Amino acid sequence: MTDLHRLSIRELSEGLANAQFSSRELTEHYLKRIAKIDVQVKSYVTVTPELALVEADAADTLRKAGGANVLTGVPIAHKDIFCTQGIKTTAGSKILDNFISPYDATVVAKGKAAGLVTLGKLNMDEFAMGSTSENSYYGATTNPWNLDHVPGGSSGGSAAAVAADLAPFATGTDTGGSIRQPASFCGLTGLKPTYGRVSRFGMIAYASSLDQGGPMARSAEDCAYLMNVMAGHDAKDSTSMNQVVDNYVANLNDTSIKGLRIGIPKQYFNVAGLAEDVKARVEESLKKLEDMGATLVEIDLNMTESYVPTYYLIAPAEASSNLQRFDGVRYGYRCENPVDLMDLYKRSRSEGFGAEVQRRILIGTYALSAGYYDAYYVKAQKVRRLIQQDFLKAFESVDVIAAPSAPTTAYKIGADLTPVEMYLGDIYTLAVNLAGLPAINAPVGFDQNNLPVGLQLIGNYWSESQLLSVVHQYQQATDWHTQRAAIAEENA
Ligand code: GLN
Repeated sequence: MTDLHRLSIRELSEGLANAQFSSRELTEHYLKRIAKIDVQVKSYVTVTPELALVEADAADTLRKAGGANVLTGVPIAHKDIFCTQGIKTTAGSKILDNFISPYDATVVAKGKAAGLVTLGKLNMDEFAMGSTSENSYYGATTNPWNLDHVPGGSSGGSAAAVAADLAPFATGTDTGGSIRQPASFCGLTGLKPTYGRVSRFGMIAYASSLDQGGPMARSAEDCAYLMNVMAGHDAKDSTSMNQVVDNYVANLNDTSIKGLRIGIPKQYFNVAGLAEDVKARVEESLKKLEDMGATLVEIDLNMTESYVPTYYLIAPAEASSNLQRFDGVRYGYRCENPVDLMDLYKRSRSEGFGAEVQRRILIGTYALSAGYYDAYYVKAQKVRRLIQQDFLKAFESVDVIAAPSAPTTAYKIGADLTPVEMYLGDIYTLAVNLAGLPAINAPVGFDQNNLPVGLQLIGNYWSESQLLSVVHQYQQATDWHTQRAAIAEENA
């Protein structure tokens, strides 16, 4: 079979179960594509062919012995923020260029237990700070739809790999949009779960009160398979919730669009910088949902203007604290010939961290410093609560809330936006993390340059099943999610 990379997760699962192909054949097929195409896409920081084949053979052996489950032998690739025992984990940073974790992140361990085969580790903005993946020490990843454009970020490698058919699905993380925005830029489905749904253990911390891992794939159905692996309480992560985990695959048809109340925040569609094409495609998708039986309800989200400033205080504050551990002493990059301990700290960090990371450490340290703490950090926490209350109020009258995932389609590589311009591009995704809510991106068409546009649906707490189900129903009635990126078409 030559088109194994075109199969959905369900088709891969069935093909393996019916012995139409083995995990070794499937894995070799993906490794060949990566070797051929990833020189242009640059989605992988590390490819692990030997290990992948060992895991594939083990999956095939297990299957012959009758011990296989639904995903045994299916390949996956992980964002390089998830610790992988024995494989380099860089978080896109020079400071971790030599870091090999002694343990697996819980998400990775769960993947292994489910029989997934690891193809490698995917590029990202350094420490997940960014919206283009250009902040990676390992160079920019390209957008499979147009190689002159970025794939988005920070999970840009995950999005590009799946969009170029270099992995059937991938893990991502979302602190302020890093699953939804790259999914939007690359025409994928990506789910940011409720805070506490997926374990953060072994996921390198950016802003701990906002970080959440989730699936990135071609469809809601494919995401549901990965959510079944990722979700669940973990004793090793005190912020993971002991909450009943749904069977996301079994529930895909449980929510009907008929009667679904979709909130349309009036503030969201008047944002300066919202591109015409994006607005038009999102409105068309809402019209489609309306035709399918949904009711569109105008709602107020009055705190919209506070999203960007609030996030860009809280996230850097937490980052400045989390990143203190990278000091050149026990692991990671260490500067040459330090004259004393202070010199070791200073130069290891100055040489090891990139410009955006240093900017955020400075902002965060300032916001947390004595004298400014109340004026900035405490104030931001109060505003955060108001943002959350805004959503809770809205969910009294609607089931889900619709928005663009991003105000534009993918930027050109090297567009060189100022930091503030870049931060404003996160307007539609940040509030979800500040409130801890789940949200999903679904592809809903293209702009005039044939770059994908995404619709974001935000749900109430623990409503991942509902979000996946709504998008699944939409994807049964449309074919945006089946369209393939240019580079995938050329290498069909
Ligand atoms: N673009 C946002 C930032 O730079 C979000 C990143 C993320 O979700 N990790 O912080």
